[in-house]
Amino acid sequence: MTIHNTDLVIVGAGPAGLFSIFEAGMLKIKAHVVDTLEVIGGQCSALYPEKPIYDIPAHPKVGASELIELLEAQAAPFAPTYHLNQRVDKFTKNADGSFTVVTSKNTQINCKAVIIAAGCGAFGPNRPPLEGIEEYEGKSVFYAVRSKAEFVGKNVVIAGGGDSAVDWALSLAEISNKVYVVHRRDKFRCAPESADKMKALVAEGKIELVIPYQLDGLEGNDGKLSAVLVKDFDGNVKKLEADYLLPFFGLAMELGPIADWGLSLHKNHIEVLDSSTMRTSIEGIYAIGDIATYKNKLKLIL
Ligand SMILES: Cc1cc2nc3c(=O)[nH]c(=O)nc-3n(C[C@H](O)[C@H](O)[C@H](O)COP(=O)(O)OP(=O)(O)OC[C@H]3O[C@@H](n4cnc5c(N)ncnc54)[C@H](O)[C@@H]3O)c2cc1C
Repeated sequence: MTIHNTDLVIVGAGPAGLFSIFEAGMLKIKAHVVDTLEVIGGQCSALYPEKPIYDIPAHPKVGASELIELLEAQAAPFAPTYHLNQRVDKFTKNADGSFTVVTSKNTQINCKAVIIAAGCGAFGPNRPPLEGIEEYEGKSVFYAVRSKAEFVGKNVVIAGGGDSAVDWALSLAEISNKVYVVHRRDKFRCAPESADKMKALVAEGKIELVIPYQLDGLEGNDGKLSAVLVKDFDGNVKKLEADYLLPFFGLAMELGPIADWGLSLHKNHIEVLDSSTMRTSIEGIYAIGDIATYKNKLKLIL
């Protein structure tokens, strides 16, 4: 277990959580931020990174991912610590009024106050039900691509049939040694233009389609993958030599453990008792952004 001590824990690195790092920093409050996603930005990064946003003051038009980059830059001078790819599972309130927050990766953060900026709940990738996959996650199995450089000259298995799977197959085919696309149907749910491009790369031998197959198992050691096993509907198993597996099966969203934290809730949202302080029913815990509800509340970034 890793243990940290700080002033404030912010649950959720969406736009509300990110801006609160800045506001806390101005008050000399140090913050640690936890998010289940591998990237910061909440809904902006996960659901609509390329959509323009028109209702942010002083920005007649700003792309969602650009807005997140700006929020990150605005928070950076206050040196926040991000704990990504992990969910805040529980917290305890200590006798002196401080809190101990524990994440799904056994990170423990001791703090004086907690801001819950959890949006509509924890986002998380839909994980394929493969035995022992946790050992490989973050090392050879990724649910998002942060740096393409890692895949240069490697064998990559991409699983899924949507835009993310196809777009990354197209992009990584340029730099990887081999890209396999595993999908259980021969139809892909992607832009027709991308489907055509993929067909061309298949013809050139840069992408190999493995259809109709489903993921069946992983082989490797100490988190380092050597092969991905796939199975067809007749139970025939095939072994794909692989350095990386990228499953793109969409995102799941759930209120998760927040529902059990003893906070006063209204229709799956945290009740804010006083919108001038955003305090909740537990002293020292505040709720902001989409997760918070109070009179005349709007679910918008501003
Ligand atoms: C398609 C679409 C378009 C939109 N367009 C606009 C627009 O143009 N303008 C506008 O103002 N708004 C828009 N919105 C709404 C806007 O995106 C939300 O109001 C905003 O993202 C809310 O920010 P937030 O920080 O409260 O929550 P979120 O962005 O939802 O972020 C919450 C984060 O908390 C994390 N989290 C939750 N529970 C836990 C936990 N237990 N542990 C760790 N992490 C946790 C989640 O993984 C998530 O990353 C749009 C929404 C959608 C879906």
